[in-house]
Amino acid sequence: SSRSAESVRIEAVSKTYGDFRALDDVSLAVEAGEFVAILGPSGSGKSTLLMAVAGFIRPDRGRILFGDSDIVRLPANQRGFGVVFQSYALFPHMDVMANVTFPLEVRGVPKDAARKRAASALDVVKLGGYGARRIGELSGGQRQRVALARAIVFEPKVLLMDEPLSALDKILREEMQIEIRELHNKLQITTLYVTHDQREALTIADRVAVMDKGKIVQLDSPETIYRRPANEFVARFIGEAT
Ligand code: ADP
Ligand code: MG
Repeated sequence: SSRSAESVRIEAVSKTYGDFRALDDVSLAVEAGEFVAILGPSGSGKSTLLMAVAGFIRPDRGRILFGDSDIVRLPANQRGFGVVFQSYALFPHMDVMANVTFPLEVRGVPKDAARKRAASALDVVKLGGYGARRIGELSGGQRQRVALARAIVFEPKVLLMDEPLSALDKILREEMQIEIRELHNKLQITTLYVTHDQREALTIADRVAVMDKGKIVQLDSPETIYRRPANEFVARFIGEAT
């Protein structure tokens, strides 16, 4: 494959809404090809951080490095990152194929080539043969896979996912966790994965960044987070309070 992973480094990023500090001097280096989960309770700043990396939110201060270049001023559509939103954001009245070819069409890929690439992305998420189905006919797990196929179809060097499984029931969620991790192992895309579910974060990621009130309070392997939580907040949040 021509794909080569790149690192993403968040350096001293802050973002305020009025007086409220949603991100407070956050730094996080994600190695090329690494899978990092951003874990924290509701309101801790996870989505704000992810959307700053995606380019949908402009930080007040700080840098975001992609490889060696500072992309903090680059618009989202020029970063070329694959993004999976919590709500999927699929086009419900279009069929699966049209949803997945969309990112290629906006990039000017000719229709036939776009369909070929979409078909292979759908194979990767085990939805080969589903191209003509309407989104409304699909199950939650199938919709989630379409959103994933759409995010990987243009071979992004970075994949950003914001609570992508939160709409699914427990069994489907656990299945999809395994599938997302297998997909990562296959494609080696540098990945940032937001979740408020500590078990999910500890299962899926190489390293976990735990957020509290706009700050990363611990960044470690799942095992270290579990065995040596950095403070009382982390201990309580992962259910290991003594
Ligand atoms: P999380 O994803 O961890 O639940 P968010 O990053 O969505 O948290 O939000 C962090 C905090 O910033 C929340 O308290 C939220 O209310 C606030 N916030 C997020 N976006 C805005 C906005 N556009 N205007 C004002 N406050 C916001
Ligand atoms: Mg969020």
